[in-house]
Amino acid sequence: MTIALHGVGVSRGIAIGKVHIVKRDQLDIREYSIKQHLIDDEIKRFENAVTNARQQLRAIREHIPESTSADIEEFIDTHLLMLGDVALTEEPMRLIKELACNAEWALKLQRDALVTVFDEMDDAYLRTRKDDVDYVVNRIQRLLLNQTPLQHEKPDQKLAGYIVMANDLTPADTVLMQHHGIAAFATESGGPTSHTAILARSLGIPAIVGLQNALRYIKEDDELILDGVRGIILVDPDRYALSDYRHLQKEEKRYYSKLGKLKNKPSITLDGISIDLQANIELPKDFETVVEVGAQGVGLYRTEFLYMNRESPPDEEEHYVAYTKVIEVLNGLPLTIRTLDLGADKQVDGGRQSGPVINNPALGLRAIRLCLKEPALFRPQLRAIIRASVHGPVRIMIPMLSNIHEIQQVLQMIEDIKKELDVLAIPYDHELQIGGMIEVPAAAVCADIFAQQLDFLSIGTNDLIQYTLAVDRGNEHVSALYSAVEPAVIRLIRTIIQDAHRHGIDVSVCGEMASEPEYIMLLVGLGIRTLSMTPPMIPEIKQMIRSVTIEDCNIVARKDNFFFTTGFIPILL
Ligand code: PEP
Ligand code: MG
Repeated sequence: MTIALHGVGVSRGIAIGKVHIVKRDQLDIREYSIKQHLIDDEIKRFENAVTNARQQLRAIREHIPESTSADIEEFIDTHLLMLGDVALTEEPMRLIKELACNAEWALKLQRDALVTVFDEMDDAYLRTRKDDVDYVVNRIQRLLLNQTPLQHEKPDQKLAGYIVMANDLTPADTVLMQHHGIAAFATESGGPTSHTAILARSLGIPAIVGLQNALRYIKEDDELILDGVRGIILVDPDRYALSDYRHLQKEEKRYYSKLGKLKNKPSITLDGISIDLQANIELPKDFETVVEVGAQGVGLYRTEFLYMNRESPPDEEEHYVAYTKVIEVLNGLPLTIRTLDLGADKQVDGGRQSGPVINNPALGLRAIRLCLKEPALFRPQLRAIIRASVHGPVRIMIPMLSNIHEIQQVLQMIEDIKKELDVLAIPYDHELQIGGMIEVPAAAVCADIFAQQLDFLSIGTNDLIQYTLAVDRGNEHVSALYSAVEPAVIRLIRTIIQDAHRHGIDVSVCGEMASEPEYIMLLVGLGIRTLSMTPPMIPEIKQMIRSVTIEDCNIVARKDNFFFTTGFIPILL
């Protein structure tokens, strides 16, 4: 029997195929005592688990396909090294003997002790090592408990064409799965602007989030139809549904190939006003799509993906090489590099590491706050961007600014770096522009002050909506409250645009709102002339821009017409 499940469609397209379920069970580690005469057997059981873990990792290492990034290789090498370290091999054996406890418990105790040591380290890089300890410990624990590694973590696993279904997928997971060529994603949790959703859109694969309890009705290898526009999954579809959806899939392809013909056409309204359509990029390899879809540049390069699935953060040289390559691919198109925006929902390991619970991570040490606290993390990136600016048009963009002191500190650091480079006669673009993302209501309200310190502003509507409405962008239980057209949000966007114009600086929108056709006329009517979006949306948005006049857009943005275009009653606008 066909079952229909409903969630939030976050990336368009139709996928038809078998499902692969990613289940990340919380391991239930319990303590029990071992009789004295069985202690040697327990130690043997532990040794076998370590040997098997090593063999598993070696097998993965040997079968890494060529297309897999070098980062993943390094990641596995580090874990292999750890599996040979006495701290993880001999110490648990000593604990088994001393406490007469089971191997799982001894390993847990040793893991907790190691993590405490890492937590106490001052060095942020070393502190991240505890994630690796957890990864390795988890692999041994799974073997002790007779559980298998997760499929998508095995590079040789054949997942191409599968629809991946999970309770939740972290950005780090999605990066790994990208290597498998999966056809679509679906998750039980998550909201429309969660990073998994954004990544799915940028990969151009259909995705649905917020399918609450869907895993109760789906089992491995079930046949599914996933409709990313309507947010529907059909489990075990009958032949009528299959034939209808195959037809729709063909129609979709035809529509997109028609849109593809707009690639070299200008993005101008019917009355000749040019609207710059730029791309948001997550992964360095996505830069080729920027050129393919005819984007006029990159308005947001999210650099945190350079930090994911690896042991230590990239150094200055690695940043420099990455940015230089991108500049080369863009061949003269402008590139806005956003500095590191880690924290909250963007964790290097997808947030799987244990450690002290952080309350309200979205209000905590993330983005520019983290960077200013950890100059050793931030400085190499700034220096690399400044050095790379000599190769092409580059701008620096600072995320999540909430007060003017942060801007002053960043500007000071940039000045210091420039002086250093001058002394060493290292070239850079002396006109390099520094801009800020307006994502926090405090920054929006004071946009006029920010505009006097910066060269451009970019409105990050994903976070601006979250912080303005106090609605967690990744929480499916409140996703109905997450709305770009709440009067509070529109008022702030209007203020930011007016303040930027008043001070004669550029202002753009780079949040997901700029990728959504229903908001484009509103944003243009509010005064936006540059939109940065997920690359697959550029042809459709261009088609839209080319079929309206600025006056049409102005009418949409006039408050008395708001209702007709957004379905929202503008009581307080
Ligand atoms: C935003 O907040 O709108 C934004 C573009 O940044 P991110 O989605 O990466 O937080
Ligand atoms: Mg943001």
